[in-house]
Amino acid sequence: MPARSLYHAGMEAWIDSHCHLDFPELDAERATMVAAARAAGLSHLLIPGVAVVHFPRQARVADTYGFHCAYGLHPWYPHGPDDLDRLEDWLQHPGCVAVGECGLDKLRGPALEQQIALLEAQLELARQRELPVILHVVKAHEPLLRLLRRQPLPAGGVVHAFQGSAELARRYLALGLNLGIGAAFTRPNARRWQAVLARLPLEQLLLETDAPALRPAWVDQGPNRPDYLPAIAEALATLRQQPLADLLRQTRQTTLKCFPRLREQHGS
Ligand SMILES: [Zn+2]
Repeated sequence: MPARSLYHAGMEAWIDSHCHLDFPELDAERATMVAAARAAGLSHLLIPGVAVVHFPRQARVADTYGFHCAYGLHPWYPHGPDDLDRLEDWLQHPGCVAVGECGLDKLRGPALEQQIALLEAQLELARQRELPVILHVVKAHEPLLRLLRRQPLPAGGVVHAFQGSAELARRYLALGLNLGIGAAFTRPNARRWQAVLARLPLEQLLLETDAPALRPAWVDQGPNRPDYLPAIAEALATLRQQPLADLLRQTRQTTLKCFPRLREQHGS
């Protein structure tokens, strides 16, 4: 089991900056995994949105545990003509800290032009509301970077689940964006990504599980879980040859800077 050595008092607090805690795959174990994550030092958890129909469930789960949400229209999910208006309402919900996740995916979802239009509208909402953005991007870095140059993000954001080249990382970082790092690097065949990740500036990295997706390589079955994050962080600290405490402290600081509203309390 991962994280066993890390469950001790005095460990640096950490944040899971991207966890779909509301997804039904986590229903059975949700309370247990949140308790385990808290015991291991979890201070905040951000539940990203994917579609309007899920937003009430997301808000409920966030309220139950005192966590926060982002709301956005993810390219994998179908969206109705009124969903942008409804998203705008949800962005005013207490506990909302960002727009997302939204983005571009060449491997899944509707035609890219359609995805670009939906993303443009959401970037505009983020600009109006002064909210940071959580970006999902698969094989569409050039169109995304073009869009971001045209529509800069005044409140910044994060490219979540990033695992691109050093050059791509440099271009996102130059735009002031952060990179969300999950367990993808723990796979033995991720050598090239590991080499890039070892050299990225710690000040612009956020930790995320993306649970229930993307479990670490040492876990054979079941969904990914937020309480796996300390072990993922430990593996990252080893890869980067830096103390785990520094990595947890800096990524937490960066996450709170990226999502300033995370500091605000909410809940029912
Ligand atoms: Zn996600």
